[in-house]
Amino acid sequence: MPESIAKVIDGKAVAARVRADVARAVAELREKGVVPCLNVVLVGEDPASQVYVRMKGKACDEVGIRGVTHRLPVSTTEDELLALLKTLNADPEVDGILVQLPVPDHIDPDKVTDALDPARDVDGFHPFSLGMLMSDRPGMEPCTPAGCIRLIDETGIDLKGRNAVVIGRSLIVGKPMAMLLLRRHATVTVCHSRTRNLADVVWTAEVVVAAVGRPQMVKGDWIREGAVVIDVGVNRLADGKLVGDVDFEAASSRASWITPVPGGVGPMTIAYLMRNTVIAACLRRGIDFPSGL
Ligand code: NDP
Repeated sequence: MPESIAKVIDGKAVAARVRADVARAVAELREKGVVPCLNVVLVGEDPASQVYVRMKGKACDEVGIRGVTHRLPVSTTEDELLALLKTLNADPEVDGILVQLPVPDHIDPDKVTDALDPARDVDGFHPFSLGMLMSDRPGMEPCTPAGCIRLIDETGIDLKGRNAVVIGRSLIVGKPMAMLLLRRHATVTVCHSRTRNLADVVWTAEVVVAAVGRPQMVKGDWIREGAVVIDVGVNRLADGKLVGDVDFEAASSRASWITPVPGGVGPMTIAYLMRNTVIAACLRRGIDFPSGL
């Protein structure tokens, strides 16, 4: 086993601090009579989705956000789901709406995302939110990439002018991640399944963000000495163990900082969902952000 030199970025601890800031912000809002409210919609019984939805409900309770979960049967039609979203969009009490993905095959996920009121799009997946991100204008930032930026900030490195390599170009992680890194003036390379010589590209990186969904595909010797490694991947091995997209042990012997899986990016996603809900509540109601948010 190679000797570890990297410092571990404790996502659980950072997420707890973000949630504490959100809880203080919610308490301030409640004193003004405003109770931020998040509605989560789950269609079907996908076991992983059920776990995520439960975790989101629990996080709402913890920070004082009113969390409402709509559990719909797998037989729910696209029209029925869109009708629910229309009702939620029009409800003045609802600040954030999130449809847990994936939706069953007979429902078009793009139609679902498009049907959300962008002002309540706390996941930041609506084309309007993504367009605002692209235009460098304030809006809802997707929770996972926003959480990754916070984790990078925890290391104290200044991203300006740094070479950053993002592996993965999905709309929910890779692409918005690249945009957020660009906003911080990093020099960004985005890799995907057709990238040639991935190892060589990753070796140029001072910051690596891996968001692929392939267990431990990023090898230790791809990592440049001193790089910051953010592992978004969540993969379950045959023996039930959870691992990331990066070979954590091997990469730790070269990186300066690295996130673990579990306990790295995962907790940040829900913490930033809570934060986005409070931001949405303030923006939609035209009130100033509470202190510390
Ligand atoms: P997607 O499947 O949507 O995207 C995966 C990306 O990886 C694609 O862009 C794909 O390229 C690229 N890719 C696939 N194979 C390779 C390869 N061999 N070399 C280089 N790139 C490759 O996944 P997501 O972005 O939704 O999620 C990525 C991972 O992050 C998953 O493990 C997911 O579970 C995890 N995740 C974790 C979250 C958290 O909170 N911790 C939140 C969201 C996701 P191409 O576009 O060419 O197909």
